Amino acid sequence: MRRGAVVLDRVGAGLLILAGLVLVAGGMLWWTASAGIDGVERTRRVDNRLVEAADQIRYLDEVLTHSSARFALTGDPRWQTRYDRAVTQLDSAIATSRRLGGHAATGPLDAVAQANQRLIVLEARIFRLGAAGRLAEAQQTMLGEYEVQNQIYHAGLVEFVDGQERASAASMSSQQHTLVINRWIAVGLVVVLLAAVTSLGRLHRRQAALLDAQSDQLTDAAMTDALTGLANRRAAVAMLDSLVRAAERGRPGTVMFIDLDGFKAVNDTFGHATGDDVLIEAARRLHIVVEGEGEVARLGGDEFLVLLDGDLEQASHVAQACLDAVGNPFPVRAATVRLSASIGLATAGADSAQSLLQDADFAAAWAKEHGKSQIQHFDASMRQLILDRHHAENNLRDALAAGQLEVYYQPILRIGNDARQEPRVIGAEALIRWRHPDGNLIPPDKFIPTAEASWLIVDIGRLVLDRACQQLAIWTGAGLDLHLSVNISGRHLVHADLVGDLHTVLTTHQVDPTRLTIEVTETHLLGDLDRASAVLTQVRALGIRVALDDFTTGYSTLTHLTTLPADIIKIDRSFVAAITHEREHLLVEFLQRLADLSGMQTIAEGVETAQQLALLAKLGCHTVQGFLFNPALHPDQFLDYANASQVDVFK
Ligand code: C2E
Ligand code: CA
Ligand code: CA
Repeated sequence: MRRGAVVLDRVGAGLLILAGLVLVAGGMLWWTASAGIDGVERTRRVDNRLVEAADQIRYLDEVLTHSSARFALTGDPRWQTRYDRAVTQLDSAIATSRRLGGHAATGPLDAVAQANQRLIVLEARIFRLGAAGRLAEAQQTMLGEYEVQNQIYHAGLVEFVDGQERASAASMSSQQHTLVINRWIAVGLVVVLLAAVTSLGRLHRRQAALLDAQSDQLTDAAMTDALTGLANRRAAVAMLDSLVRAAERGRPGTVMFIDLDGFKAVNDTFGHATGDDVLIEAARRLHIVVEGEGEVARLGGDEFLVLLDGDLEQASHVAQACLDAVGNPFPVRAATVRLSASIGLATAGADSAQSLLQDADFAAAWAKEHGKSQIQHFDASMRQLILDRHHAENNLRDALAAGQLEVYYQPILRIGNDARQEPRVIGAEALIRWRHPDGNLIPPDKFIPTAEASWLIVDIGRLVLDRACQQLAIWTGAGLDLHLSVNISGRHLVHADLVGDLHTVLTTHQVDPTRLTIEVTETHLLGDLDRASAVLTQVRALGIRVALDDFTTGYSTLTHLTTLPADIIKIDRSFVAAITHEREHLLVEFLQRLADLSGMQTIAEGVETAQQLALLAKLGCHTVQGFLFNPALHPDQFLDYANASQVDVFK
């Protein structure tokens, strides 16, 4: 799970916990506050009634004292009535007070009750005396014990009422206390909640900032090429999109596709670490050239894309500067690497970003195919030609996969010094053909150029090596004493693992390496001569012989003779065809001498006439192949030919 999601989960859990806290704390607040308020209200009500009852008791006590005194003084029976009513009311007020205050609080009432009993007795006497008109006695009764009892009674009542009031005040203050505590609890909870909300908010902000930073980092990484730090392919497509949109609004824009020439050889020769350094340096140079004029991205491998504001003319200047920048030597590690670039330019029109990129790519491919180290402007005809080539390439790839490629063998013969002596077959050159499903046998000239332009030529090389060695093993097993030659393309030699492939086929088919020759065309090795000669040295170390194919006498060719390790010179067909002419005759003679001096052997190819054969033999060239004897043959035909012609191929 991504870290961001975990962080979000934590915030979510925090929010849930907070919500729970809010609910619980709110509930507690509500409960304590409402319980406290209820309690206070209840106590208030009781206390009020207690105070009222106390007031009434005090009042009725005075009424009793007063009315009995007045009766004793006046003998007026209305005072007795008043007295009786007050007694009843006092009893009920005391009962109420007892009920509300509880028995504990009503201790003093016991003394009151005793005094009351005595007072009632005394008062009954007072009323009796009063009723009998004995007022003086009645008044007398009011003094003495009555006064004493009355004081006890009165003091008791006062004590009771005071007690009630004190209890009420105490309970009031306790309730007040509860309310104060509740208020502090409430304040505490609010503080806790606020703190929780604040810290969660802070946490949330930190998490959000972290997530933002992470997603920024991810976006950067997704848009940046890790090796060079330039914008990557994805970013390039986004930039192309905006270039196309700007073009739609009438602002000119041009894209430049830069494909480094010969970069793969850098990797193969010096290793990937050096290759990486070269790419980093190339990226740095391109960035400097383009800065201020546009943007540069790495599409992958050794391909870069430059996006420029401005028309084709302005872009051409920048393209030339890029070409120059890449053309300067790269001093990396222990080596000095030299590169060039094939650059394609395309102007943003009404096309999509994708087709704009493709156009620039087509132009760069065109530049590469037409000599490399140059700038090409895209035009529509290129697209068709390159599409056709892609089409041809796909067809060929399918043919290879479908097993439609077959290997034929053209005999190579040895002629004696005496022209009358029968030539004998000493070997064959493996030559590829395409057995098309329509039955036609397509010659290699029709499809090898397509294969050479891609890695298919390496696959074809491996196929022919494998078939040829298999065939060689069969023929050698059947008693034939033969050598086989296989054509190897420059790409296979310089840019792939030819030595490894050779090792594999030799082991697989248990073939004697001295029976195998590889033919390389030195003109295909130009620019990669150092690497080529290193590989050829390894090939020869395996025991395999090396032939220089299509050998002519151009200036460079002759210098290569000294640098390329080889065993055989294959004298080109054009020389043989014209050997009757003095110039070509001299040249073949010269080549033969050169070979003799360098300890090399010659094979003349394209021998079509007996005259050519005789002239070659006279010049010392005794190994030949050509239509004078045979074209390339199917393996079965080859064996029939070897048997039927009775040529001296058997040991
Ligand atoms: P190459 O290596 O020079 O092969 C000799 C070519 O000359 C063959 O053509 C052969 O059929 C032709 N030839 C032989 N004797 C005569 C003759 O007396 N007169 C004339 N005019 N031509 C003669 P092919 O088989 O069509 O091959 C053409 C080229 O295709 C080869 O030229 C070689 O460069 C390439 N090629 C063929 N097979 C392979 C292969 O397996 N791998 C690679 N890389 N290239 C191949
Ligand atoms: Ca050849
Ligand atoms: Ca040849």
